[in-house]
Amino acid sequence: MKFPDTFISSLLLFAFMGLLWTACEAEEAHDPVLLISIDGFMNEYVDRNETPNIDRIIAGGVWAESLIPVFPTLTFPTHHSMSTGLFVENHGIIANSFYAYDHEERFSYGPPDNQNDERWWGGEPIWITAERQGLTSATFFWPGSEATFNGINSTRWVDYDGSVPDEVRVDSVAHWLDPQGEVAADFATLYFSDVDSRGHSYGPDSPEVDEAVREVDETLGHLIDRLEEIGLWPDINLIVVSDHGMAELDDEKVIFIDDIIDLDDADVNTWGAVSNIRPEEGVHIEDIYTPLKENEEHYSVYYKEEVPEEYRFSNHERIGDIVMIAELPWMISSRDFFERRGQPRGMHGWDHREPEMQAFFLAQGPAFRSGEQEVSPIRMVDLYEMMTYILNIEPAENDGDLEASEHIRR
Ligand SMILES: [Zn+2]
Repeated sequence: MKFPDTFISSLLLFAFMGLLWTACEAEEAHDPVLLISIDGFMNEYVDRNETPNIDRIIAGGVWAESLIPVFPTLTFPTHHSMSTGLFVENHGIIANSFYAYDHEERFSYGPPDNQNDERWWGGEPIWITAERQGLTSATFFWPGSEATFNGINSTRWVDYDGSVPDEVRVDSVAHWLDPQGEVAADFATLYFSDVDSRGHSYGPDSPEVDEAVREVDETLGHLIDRLEEIGLWPDINLIVVSDHGMAELDDEKVIFIDDIIDLDDADVNTWGAVSNIRPEEGVHIEDIYTPLKENEEHYSVYYKEEVPEEYRFSNHERIGDIVMIAELPWMISSRDFFERRGQPRGMHGWDHREPEMQAFFLAQGPAFRSGEQEVSPIRMVDLYEMMTYILNIEPAENDGDLEASEHIRR
């Protein structure tokens, strides 16, 4: 059978137009995403301080009533949930520091070698998803960003060093995002820690926190200047988040676990707002659980498999056989530790539904609505889906829902 020439040329024309359209679509889909974490930042900090640069982003963007954290509300678990879209029980970073029975090794935010080990980090962070699909990522700090995933890492990343000035972080990332530069990143991260450390040292209501808030606002002003210089300000999708809130501690509100159980009988893997507990060899689990249950005051105690579904903190081998969750602002400690070290003024880690544990979400750019404040909350696990959608890449398996961010997207 022979087709007339005109028919064939029309087919070719359509095929060519299709290619052209696909190319344009791909081109358009590359508005970059810059994800910024201000550790321990709360909505109320904006309300009570002069923050002209944050105000500018709010005016042009969308500010949520809250970013609902995952449980436990701790820096490493929450950051890894934001970058992977997974609940903690599905990514395995159960605390900032814990002994992992599966590796017979301690995970801690201290030594960098430990962080670089990809066995710790379950799931696929957004920067890997992007790299795997031909996009370019650059991270200037994010928990998990030092590790490779199946041999892949961001095009640019750095080992964590808290002494690097915030301005240097901003300048580096602006350089990597520069569309005329050698990296021209499609996705980048920034991380600032001062607001959190002041919150721990002085409490969330302190003038020291306010000072850090004004400083980070200036840093964001510097970032906006740099993005304007490289011509990216109108095109960039800027997402500013925090990882948890902060609550004032009270030295009278301490649960001394060694008043209830013998610490020779149990391995208490994590302390603070949440304890993961495992009986020592030869000790019956009931002998640990029963006294904890009988003395249940200002905390809840569960067998691992009975941790209520809303915590999503049950289905991982690193979670303790017994999980103890303190009521905010109670802290789980031991007499010895408390006497030696005392406790800070501010802390987080409690139930992700507590108002004081809510995190911050602000976004501006072509993908987001403009000039909307107090929009309904978004969950941390929904950020990954949202970012892959904006970058027009296929998400890896995750616990998030794209529709959950519809009210903040354009
Ligand atoms: Zn934090």
